[in-house]
Amino acid sequence: MLSLLLIFCLFFCGNAHSLNLPDQRLHFREFTLNYAYQDEGTALKIVRILQNSLPRFQRIFSLRIQRRAKIVILSSPEDQLRYLQHELPRWAGAAYFPENRTIFVKSPRWSGSIFDLQTDVKHELSHLFLHDMSGDHEMPVWFDEGLAMLMSGKQVSWWDGITLSNALLSNKVMDFSQIEKVLQFDEKKARIAYLESQSAVLFLIQRLPQHNLVRFLQEAKRNGLNEALQSSLQLDSIDFEIKWYRNLAKRYKWYIFFNFTNLIWLFMLFILTAGYFLVRRRNRKLLRKWTEFENLENSETGDPLRWTGGNSGQINDDEDF
Ligand SMILES: [Zn+2]
Repeated sequence: MLSLLLIFCLFFCGNAHSLNLPDQRLHFREFTLNYAYQDEGTALKIVRILQNSLPRFQRIFSLRIQRRAKIVILSSPEDQLRYLQHELPRWAGAAYFPENRTIFVKSPRWSGSIFDLQTDVKHELSHLFLHDMSGDHEMPVWFDEGLAMLMSGKQVSWWDGITLSNALLSNKVMDFSQIEKVLQFDEKKARIAYLESQSAVLFLIQRLPQHNLVRFLQEAKRNGLNEALQSSLQLDSIDFEIKWYRNLAKRYKWYIFFNFTNLIWLFMLFILTAGYFLVRRRNRKLLRKWTEFENLENSETGDPLRWTGGNSGQINDDEDF
């Protein structure tokens, strides 16, 4: 059910007459949502997410959306092919297409995503705002995705730390130029690329004067990202990437100790090593006892080889003849 406030904010339009998009449509501020009847619940959830998120986005990007944007809920895999002419990556719950100012969201009825609906919608909103803000200045994917991760409210969890740690130790950390192709990656690689991007933007914000992201974005809007990096951190993009990588390695390498699989292997290794030394100690003890027992027995019964009538250790041949 919609809250009263939402009822005032929404202008419900009923059936759309577009041949190309789902037939239900509603407007919320600068957004038009297109969806199939079965996805009305999802559409209303998205409106709530917009209502709660837009003020923050407008403040951080210092921007109000000027041109109308669309949000299309894809109600089935067939819808995806019909509207996009291709499939989004299986792991992606949503995507933003700047050329027609449209966010496509897979309906949670049929699709899973790396993230939940709220995170997906906020993530794509960030792409929309950054694209509108940056104008002619092209933003690298690491920055676009890292900022979107941050704006979506996604935190870097312990598990994420372990993922980064594994990537570091298995040499799977990608440089920024490789992250440009994130949409072609499989889920595992995409997850690493998103985490790297997020950690790079967090690293950047932590080093900004007063952590002032708003001012940094304004500088990036005026002069592009490289100039903003130079004027805010006195680093060019290559130096920034090197410093970020060193920080990543320093920060996340030790997370390897929290990897459950590694812990099991370490525990097994410990058990095997301890077992080896215990068995060795027990064997030595047995051997010593056995030797002592044998010596005792020899001294009681006499050793025929040693008993030489006083010439210890030698058999005297002359005595036999
Ligand atoms: Zn994205």
